[in-house]
Amino acid sequence: MNRADDEVERVVEQFAVLKRRFSIAIVLLCLVLLAWIVVAAAFSGRDGVSLLGLPLAWAIEGGLVLAALIGTALALSFWRCPACGKYMGGVLSMSHCPRCGVRLTDEHRLTRP
Ligand SMILES: [Zn+2]
Repeated sequence: MNRADDEVERVVEQFAVLKRRFSIAIVLLCLVLLAWIVVAAAFSGRDGVSLLGLPLAWAIEGGLVLAALIGTALALSFWRCPACGKYMGGVLSMSHCPRCGVRLTDEHRLTRP
């Protein structure tokens, strides 16, 4: 294995770790958002209910906006190519970086039985 192969292997391994961590972060964010919606729904039939000092509708919308902002901030901060460091866009299942074209997944591993 030469130096270029080592570099490709390093990028593939770093992308696999990044993808796993990013997937976990997305699932956790969705779970928090779901819990937020369940809590809001549990209080929705009651008059004059507030969450965190805000009217219920504002609290729900604020939670959704906050989740969207956190998701966007996470994506822009961490969803970056291990080789070129640029933002990779909104697709989790890519095999190559859309910016620099470096291979991100171990295609040989996928084709083996
Ligand atoms: Zn790249």
